[in-house]
Amino acid sequence: MQSNRDVRRIADLLHHGIFLFDSVGIDAPQTEAELVVTHCLELSRTDLYLRAQEQISRVQADRCLAMMQRRSENEPLAYITGEREFWSYTFNVSPAVLIPRPETEILIERVLAARDCSNAGGGYLDLCCGSGVIAIVLALELDVEVIGVDISRPALKVCRSNCARHGVEQRVHLVQGDLASCFAENEQFSLITCNPPYVSSSEMAAGMQPEVAKYEPILALDGGPGGLNHISRVIATFSRLLAPGGYFFMEIGAGQGGAVKELLARSDSDDLYASIDIIKDYSGRDRVVEVRKNDQY
Ligand code: GLN
Repeated sequence: MQSNRDVRRIADLLHHGIFLFDSVGIDAPQTEAELVVTHCLELSRTDLYLRAQEQISRVQADRCLAMMQRRSENEPLAYITGEREFWSYTFNVSPAVLIPRPETEILIERVLAARDCSNAGGGYLDLCCGSGVIAIVLALELDVEVIGVDISRPALKVCRSNCARHGVEQRVHLVQGDLASCFAENEQFSLITCNPPYVSSSEMAAGMQPEVAKYEPILALDGGPGGLNHISRVIATFSRLLAPGGYFFMEIGAGQGGAVKELLARSDSDDLYASIDIIKDYSGRDRVVEVRKNDQY
């Protein structure tokens, strides 16, 4: 590897990053190096190669090298840059919130496809709102008001900054609380969305990438021994808050569809639900549960 002093051109930065990331076993070292350099120098990806021989200042080089060092220690790029794209909008992120995942866009697609959810006559509620991606995208796409709930005050702070970034402070109302415990019995919503923590303790212990295990908030990931602790609490309470004909969408873990259906069947004493569907993601894994409440309840 070159010494930092030898990094004088854009091409040197890229080479430094690729070599560093490869040496510590980061997946896709070239793409990661390109992302750091494009972010740092505010360049497009094509510029990186068209302008590869251009000189950069010492300050620019040092700033970019410091970011590369952090990335080489497995810190996710989104926390280093403080941003992540979701549904083609850019959101602020910090280690207080989960980094938005592309799979969560499937939940948004399903909500937008369920056009008649606004007919049920109640407001929109997003539980475990985190950085606010679901609540804010729905407020923007459907021009509606949404209540976002999260137990974590630091997460709500990030969410508030995203509401301001996207100009929806007047439409997304934030509440600190444990799931739906802050709502009265008679409160009714026509749409409830939720992306709860659903990773099981054994997955937490064994299978997570260092980027997730070392940096992302455990509070937003850990779903207890079977991963279903929060999911089962949400299932036990959402239907009393759902207006007749209303919709409920919850993100779930790969392979949790069967257990989630069973939990729903147990809570469905009198034909409460008109439909229950498990939606798979693009890798064919269970990802979203979609429930429609009967019109009569
Ligand atoms: N999809 C995330 C992961 O596997 C988990 C998100 C969640 O628990 N809500 O890292």
